[in-house]
Amino acid sequence: MARLDIANVTKLFGATRAVDDFSITVTDGELVCLLGPSGSGKSTLLRMIGGFEKPTYGSMTIDGEEVIHLPPEKRPTGMVFQSHALWSHMNVFKNIAFGLKLRRLPKAEITQRVEAVLDLVGLKGFGERLTHQLSGGQQQRVALARSLVLEPKILLLDEPFASLDQHLRERLREEVRDIQQRLKITTLFVTHAQDEALSVADRIVVLRDGRTEQIAKPAEVYRTP
Ligand code: ADP
Ligand code: ADP
Repeated sequence: MARLDIANVTKLFGATRAVDDFSITVTDGELVCLLGPSGSGKSTLLRMIGGFEKPTYGSMTIDGEEVIHLPPEKRPTGMVFQSHALWSHMNVFKNIAFGLKLRRLPKAEITQRVEAVLDLVGLKGFGERLTHQLSGGQQQRVALARSLVLEPKILLLDEPFASLDQHLRERLREEVRDIQQRLKITTLFVTHAQDEALSVADRIVVLRDGRTEQIAKPAEVYRTP
């Protein structure tokens, strides 16, 4: 379990305040949803936590270490995007093993970890499949597995199921919630769908135009129009 501390973070793009004075502490394997309409600053916030964007002002630490001071390979976050960006010329096993190979782990350990994570995401036996042979939901499970196999301290999910149909989205968010609770992994989940946030989150951050409207447990969040 990891601790994320965000203190008074502002991100400016020219005159645009993408994120305006945002603060939160997330810990204890909590799942926090960042909820808001398009342009409210959700992705910018997530990208800063992942170290892909620098805050203009403020501090953002994971277990006490300032994210922007960490070199990319030391960043303790794993990110899953809306479009999975799997390597279509590699099979499922190789897609997931890629990051472990870069870290030069022993082959036996790579195989063991990839198989364990395939099992975790419900894709046992899918190692040899090519990713373009998989359904959209299966592809997102591979993207999740590729992220989890590196054992990140914090999982960052950016609208991971937005391209899937409603029924599949509902199923996958339950699966993610289940996996998240089993691993007790601190998670930030970006969505513009209120029902999604209400059903998976421990706490919800409601954002609008970069500003924090509310941070509350699902039962306490007011209905936004
Ligand atoms: P959301 O994820 O909630 O849709 P974003 O974080 O993508 O919101 O965007 C927040 C605001 O910041 C928007 O006004 C957007 O146009 C602006 N923005 C985001 N990224 C950039 C960028 N790289 N350059 C300029 N403006 C940006
Ligand atoms: P490389 O030739 O790039 O070193 P590997 O030796 O790691 O590749 O793997 C050879 C083939 O065996 C690959 O197609 C890989 O997907 C497959 N493979 C290895 N271990 C497993 C496993 N546990 N489950 C499924 N496929 C595996």
